[in-house]
Amino acid sequence: DPRDDDSHYFQSYGEIDIHAVMINDKVRTSSYASFILKNPVLFENAIVLDVGCGTGILSLFAAKSGAKHVYAVEASGIADKAEKIVQANGLSDIITVIRGKVEEIKLPDDVTHVDIIISEWMGYALLYESMLDSVLHARDRFLSPNGGGIMAPSQCRMMLVLCEGNEVYKDRVGSWSDVYGFDLSEMAKEVYDNAIIDVVPPESIVSAPCPIKDLHLRMITPRQLDFKSSFSLTCTSPMRTKIHAFVLYFDTFFAVDEQPLDPSVPVTIIKEGDPLLAEVWPVGGKSLPKRRASMGSVRQVKESGKKKITSFSTGPQSHPTHWKQTVFLLREPIAAEEGTVVSGTFSCKKNGENSRELDVEIHYSVKHLEEPTVGETVVEIYT
Ligand code: SAH
Repeated sequence: DPRDDDSHYFQSYGEIDIHAVMINDKVRTSSYASFILKNPVLFENAIVLDVGCGTGILSLFAAKSGAKHVYAVEASGIADKAEKIVQANGLSDIITVIRGKVEEIKLPDDVTHVDIIISEWMGYALLYESMLDSVLHARDRFLSPNGGGIMAPSQCRMMLVLCEGNEVYKDRVGSWSDVYGFDLSEMAKEVYDNAIIDVVPPESIVSAPCPIKDLHLRMITPRQLDFKSSFSLTCTSPMRTKIHAFVLYFDTFFAVDEQPLDPSVPVTIIKEGDPLLAEVWPVGGKSLPKRRASMGSVRQVKESGKKKITSFSTGPQSHPTHWKQTVFLLREPIAAEEGTVVSGTFSCKKNGENSRELDVEIHYSVKHLEEPTVGETVVEIYT
């Protein structure tokens, strides 16, 4: 197979800078720290597998939280640093660094399974990089059977919102129309072809979020990572506005017990309205992971009647992370007002040429409040 989606990928993770960015993303790193260090009951005497250990930071947390042994697997050259870091912290007895792809490495013969898998596998738009496939592979090979083991994180949820996106639009499109008095709009033609990774201001969001994919790490299969789902977003802007973009982000949860969280947001598809418009975006393009830094805080979330769990959001309403948000700029902005409903389907699949990139398609229709609603009820009454 001449295709090689790994060489460049692991080369980029061999660099110091990318790890500095991740470690310095406080929302990210302190969420893991919070979950691991505040749950010594789980970690005490546990056998832990750290998939993609990088610098080894998550393994260090696990060792500190009482793990019996941690296998820290890393395919890139940063594994050498991890090894030295483990030694420098006097934890060589507890943490074993194994260099290699988790799909290919072997654990010692007497290790039949692990109790906990920790991994920070999330990419832009959650699934960019396709590292989750490797984590699921590791789960199926190594995690305790009979549903006993723990995946950390346990759940991720992808969310879609409507965004006025004026700033992104001005930045990426508008500004080209007057450059020292000349029209350079030609330069903006391709801007719609790729998703944009950027932080959008919270006040530019003009709908409640709609969950488009809920991933339970204990259950989900690699095949389910290519998906299509429906969404319905209602404009909440009190004034007439123009929607320039859909914005995608994800929330991450570290739950230990039983049931996955329930999105419990009803999704309604409205088939009336404008004909379906289609937009296609490959997420990522040529450049592979460029992660950027930021500072922030961890949050706790709670469903009624349940325990508090550690969680963080990469959404526009939360403190920015190095994942920022994923912006899908629309070729035709949508004229909208309060009550306008934008609904349709969102599909996401691995790119055919590079499985670490994604192809996203959003088909949508717009229904304005003032248009008459068509509907029918068919009932039977039995007496
Ligand atoms: N755990 C570290 C690094 C996270 S970045 C931290 O939290 O800071 C993800 C890491 O996983 C990268 O270093 C990458 O090289 C590694 N990785 C990705 N896929 C892998 C695979 N299949 N096998 C082993 N390591 C992998």
